[in-house]
Amino acid sequence: MIKEPKRNDPCWCGSGVKFKKCHRARDVQPKENAWDAVDANRKAFSVKKCCAHDVGLGACQGSVIKAHTVSKGPNLSKIAKNGHVMQYVASIPEMKKNGGKLIAKKLGINDASIFHGFCGGHDRDLFSCIENEEFSGRPDQCLAVAYRTMSRELYGKDASAHLRETLRGADKGLTAFDQFIIQNMLDGFNEGNEAARREFKHTHDALTSALVAKRFEDISSIIFEFDAPLPFMFAGAWSPFTDIHGRELQKGHPDELLEQIFVSSFAGKSSAMICISWRSVENAPGQIIAGQLKELPDSRLASICLQFAMKHIENVFFNPDWFQYLDRKHKEHLNKLAADTIYELGGVPSVSLKMELDFQLPPSARSFEVHPRHSNVVEASPVQSP
Ligand SMILES: [Zn+2]
Ligand SMILES: [Zn+2]
Repeated sequence: MIKEPKRNDPCWCGSGVKFKKCHRARDVQPKENAWDAVDANRKAFSVKKCCAHDVGLGACQGSVIKAHTVSKGPNLSKIAKNGHVMQYVASIPEMKKNGGKLIAKKLGINDASIFHGFCGGHDRDLFSCIENEEFSGRPDQCLAVAYRTMSRELYGKDASAHLRETLRGADKGLTAFDQFIIQNMLDGFNEGNEAARREFKHTHDALTSALVAKRFEDISSIIFEFDAPLPFMFAGAWSPFTDIHGRELQKGHPDELLEQIFVSSFAGKSSAMICISWRSVENAPGQIIAGQLKELPDSRLASICLQFAMKHIENVFFNPDWFQYLDRKHKEHLNKLAADTIYELGGVPSVSLKMELDFQLPPSARSFEVHPRHSNVVEASPVQSP
């Protein structure tokens, strides 16, 4: 199948190392524990660096802290039971332990949704408008949320950049065919990750400069309001290839920078909000998706938003009581959607949203769009939902 290169030729796998020092006799080399390597890579996710360092947002203050991407006090604590929430942990070692299945795990809210991506000073100053004030869909709040979410996603892609090299030896002791499959899959993963990294960096830069200049109009949003609490919380961003019906939105050519959608949810005293944002550019995929969500029956909205978030982001947390009492059909669908986020490997996730599946969530009561105008006017324009 693969013509064996000469001993001193560069290896076929692209490592840049001579064949004799890389894949020659790989099939009889002792197996490496690839999962240890993946774990090591996950630790790279806890590398401490402030995303707002030296970008015009003032000097860093204090050391880099555990920053929450879903606010702990205002939000996570409201869905917690005895200080715990549930989350699907998309890790291969975890799946190995569970016989190939991805299952939700309990975790303490102090450790939920954290990343080491901001110094104490920036975390306090940039996000005070969402940490210390109730979320009301104000344009400055929408921008702060989008910026924090994008920072976390970019941080994750940066951490995954090492995975290709980390796993280059994962095929030791396997047949030539399996070596080829694995190296190919890793190349695919790496290509997807590098493309996402470029896109996310581009958007992160754009959001940073919007924050510096207080240009809240760079982000547009739609807010869905609920008159009862929701049993889940999420915050995340991704580049949508498809809309909520699975139809194509953007292609992802190697030279094209994709646009992202930002989703996050908030808890009030006895209410909730879901905020969907996008960069204010023409034909933004986020805007198209927001329009589709607005067309949904009020009773279906929360259920579809939950499935949509589950399918694309890791940062989804559940009230343990609610999650525990889900029946098998609903839980299995969530399991599948959660697994989709890690099978992506550069491709397009494939599980569809089930419009008919009823998670018995409160209906959306109202919605309003946030299209801030120039000259830093902070205002929201209420639009009644149909
Ligand atoms: Zn090689
Ligand atoms: Zn800082």
